[in-house]
Amino acid sequence: MTDPGWKIDNGYLADAERCYSPNYDDRPPNVQPALIVIHCISLPPGNFGGSDIHQLFTNQLDANAHPYYQQLRGLKVSTHFLIDRFGCTTQFVSCLNRAWHAGESRWRGESNCNNYSIGIELEGVETDAFEVAQYVSLRKLCKSLIASYPIAACVGHSHIALPLGRKQDPGVGFDWGELSEVKSIELPL
Ligand SMILES: [Zn+2]
Repeated sequence: MTDPGWKIDNGYLADAERCYSPNYDDRPPNVQPALIVIHCISLPPGNFGGSDIHQLFTNQLDANAHPYYQQLRGLKVSTHFLIDRFGCTTQFVSCLNRAWHAGESRWRGESNCNNYSIGIELEGVETDAFEVAQYVSLRKLCKSLIASYPIAACVGHSHIALPLGRKQDPGVGFDWGELSEVKSIELPL
């Protein structure tokens, strides 16, 4: 049975929760999303649930709430999508805009991947497995993005971050084989 995915309208996924982040700007003129970048995040690291990730992406995180958060103070970052441990998908930035997720990066000789990519954060840690529900939502989301934009490939943050080795996410627990049924997409297998 083929899953048609979700509908994307004017840069927004119809079926996603929304939590608007101010951390975005315009993509360069005439640049469309060509790359999906998979990340993982949990706040504090290793803790799932709660709203701290949402707070981080909306500049609301209380830096005093946890020792780890001191290093996040003043950080302005975002993602297009977050998929939590239950597979619930939240959109923070329109796909038409540039979210701030990749940092210094390069893919196929093109630097600054934020310009031409869609960022997807999975709630999780780099050293452990992800939930079945997360892969279900991720596949659906990737199919929707492919149907709407000229997506050529899907990579991990670890594959594009500069200098090489700066990022490990989504990490060894992420199973790229789970995306193999998503057609028309090149995976870093
Ligand atoms: Zn990342």
